[in-house]
Amino acid sequence: MVSKNIYKEVLEEYEILSINAKKRFNERRELCYKKCPRIKEIEDELNMTSVKIAKAVIKANKLEKEKYLEEIKNINEKLKAEKRKLMRENGFTDSFFEDIYICKKCKDTGFIDNKECNCFKQKLINKAYDMSNIAEIIKVENFDSFSLDYYSKEKKEGEEMSPFENMGLILKKCTNFIEEFDEKFTNLVFYGNTGLGKTFLCRSIAKDLLDKGKIVLYITSGNLFEMFEKQQFDKDNKDVDENILNLTKEADLLIIDDLGTEFITSFSNTELFEIINSRILSRKPTLISTNLSPEELTANYSRRIVSRLYGDYQMVKFYGNDIRVLKKLKDKV
Ligand SMILES: [Zn+2]
Repeated sequence: MVSKNIYKEVLEEYEILSINAKKRFNERRELCYKKCPRIKEIEDELNMTSVKIAKAVIKANKLEKEKYLEEIKNINEKLKAEKRKLMRENGFTDSFFEDIYICKKCKDTGFIDNKECNCFKQKLINKAYDMSNIAEIIKVENFDSFSLDYYSKEKKEGEEMSPFENMGLILKKCTNFIEEFDEKFTNLVFYGNTGLGKTFLCRSIAKDLLDKGKIVLYITSGNLFEMFEKQQFDKDNKDVDENILNLTKEADLLIIDDLGTEFITSFSNTELFEIINSRILSRKPTLISTNLSPEELTANYSRRIVSRLYGDYQMVKFYGNDIRVLKKLKDKV
């Protein structure tokens, strides 16, 4: 699962991506110049700006220098306006040259000012953590396909409200979590029995935030700790893989699905604490789902993990009947 070459692989992918982008860009430019040669003239003129500025800087007289710079600015603005007008007249949209990029931020180079663009980090995560199957799943399993119909409107003894009402509130919480993602630092633990939609909602949240351009790492607890163990026992891989493991700390949102299904050891306890704590310190939200009850969490994990969960996470309880069973029954009817 963890490979030393992942970083290199992604770099190579971007080499190809940016070559292709450049190709598409040149094609569009040719098309544009052919249709309207004046646009080329304007661009050539605009490209001379730095030379013009250099000339202005040499001028000794301060007033003259300022006047000259002002003139350059005015001319450039006029040229840009003329270009926009010509583009439109010839049927090209304002974003004609930008539309060709998959990521407009880094223009498919993967880097902005020598720093990895979000799209680059997400690609690393997708590869390193094998998120490719998730990408397929969230096309079908997302908020649009979520239905409250399966949740009973009957209140059970001991619960404050019906599963239907409870789920309605949870949905609202999820929506708020996504909408306020940049402003509010919120961590969530979804807990409750299997088949109540916890994983479904985890993935739906992942989808909406990925769509917003956030770096999202979705991983099941079992896979996460398997990776940590491989890392621990395969020291040769350390250099590059540490980058990859660090992504659990760097992702804008980390989702650990099905906590409690991993093999819990003192090692996994330490690793889990490291991730949870580091993300709290850097105020990066984490979403955990688990079938364990609060009592079981307390019994299985170290005291410092449990205290973080209760102190810095909102505990969200899922209850009701297994909706997967209900869905199957409904399909049969
Ligand atoms: Zn990018």
